[in-house]
Amino acid sequence: MKGNFPIEKFELKETPFYYYDSALLRQTLRAINDEVSRHDNWHVHYAVKANANPKVLNIIREAGLGVDCVSGGEIETVLNAGFSASKIVFAGVGKSDWEINIGLDAGIFCFNVESIPELEVINELAAARGKVANVAFRLNPNVGAHTHANITTGLAENKFGIAMADMVSIIEHARELKNVSVAGLHFHIGSQILDMGDFDALCNRINDLQDELDRHHIRLTHINVGGGLGVDYQHPNRVSMPDFKAYFDTYARKLKLRQGQTLHFELGRAVVAQCGSLITRTLYVKEGAFKKFAIVDAGFTDLIRPALYQAYHKIENITSDMPNSTYDVVGPICESTDVFAKAIDLNEVKRGDLLAIRSAGAYGEIMASQYNCRRLPKGYITEDFK
Ligand SMILES: *Cc1c(COP(=O)(O)O)cnc(C)c1O
Repeated sequence: MKGNFPIEKFELKETPFYYYDSALLRQTLRAINDEVSRHDNWHVHYAVKANANPKVLNIIREAGLGVDCVSGGEIETVLNAGFSASKIVFAGVGKSDWEINIGLDAGIFCFNVESIPELEVINELAAARGKVANVAFRLNPNVGAHTHANITTGLAENKFGIAMADMVSIIEHARELKNVSVAGLHFHIGSQILDMGDFDALCNRINDLQDELDRHHIRLTHINVGGGLGVDYQHPNRVSMPDFKAYFDTYARKLKLRQGQTLHFELGRAVVAQCGSLITRTLYVKEGAFKKFAIVDAGFTDLIRPALYQAYHKIENITSDMPNSTYDVVGPICESTDVFAKAIDLNEVKRGDLLAIRSAGAYGEIMASQYNCRRLPKGYITEDFK
């Protein structure tokens, strides 16, 4: 089965472009809300770095989610998109002064702080504005997520977060500062995680840390467990949504919250990956000595994940029902990494056929570049074709 695409309408648009299935996005958000709404102290902050297309953001805002930002530009983007500052969390190892000031001026919910020098700068900048900033400390739980090395963030060797051994001393230090208020702990162990055992390990680690806080009579108002839930890139049609129940149940069963604590999640990929496809047109079919190439008009400037992470994306010929043949699908960019897939079966491809590169809603459009002076791809949602 192929995805459900308005192909005749696609023919009228310049390719390549991103297509977001808004019904699937809404269904995904409902599935998340169904799980989360059973707990009145749980909150989901969509990780906007996965996709900041305004139409996508609008649907996510309508579903009531908050946002997780990692730059001042993202804070500006989500404020423009109508998200409430009181639902914004702001992470990142290298926050510039102007970015911190944007967060302070907007009155965001929390700064997720990754080092002592950063804590002191936030305190100074908040003092200059006569404000008190809510902060949470991002701890590095040294929990290994079995995922690509470039997207693992929770190991001691990564640049992210503060060592667990420093937790109590940094909290005690922060309590002496007048313009920050210590509200919580923050974690984020990586991305594209499919083994619930990794989240289970994170819960155990947090439980131990909270026991240690109890011994020091430190009470925090929230725990933020980050994001990282993966999607099924192999089977976007059959498994069009992650197993949100298994994911949230892991936290419900394992994590021991203290009285009055709220629990925060920062899902990115799991929210938007499956609803997006990169639609590209076949320019040429080239018969090499040993194989056939389908040369398409999208390149890694439009979708960099295969070149950057050797990521797999399912590809379908959505124009043709001809019998299958085997192709390497490659882009036009002058780099040998500009390959979307090697030796895959597609319905026989002809010049002009549209291919859908599936599961491209996360870390796709937002990572596009203009290398080779290429145009940035546009993004459309289902309603744009009605
Ligand atoms: C990237 C990121 C996320 C979202 O990760 P996903 O794997 O897309 O769910 C959440 N929190 C922080 C701090 C991040 O940097």
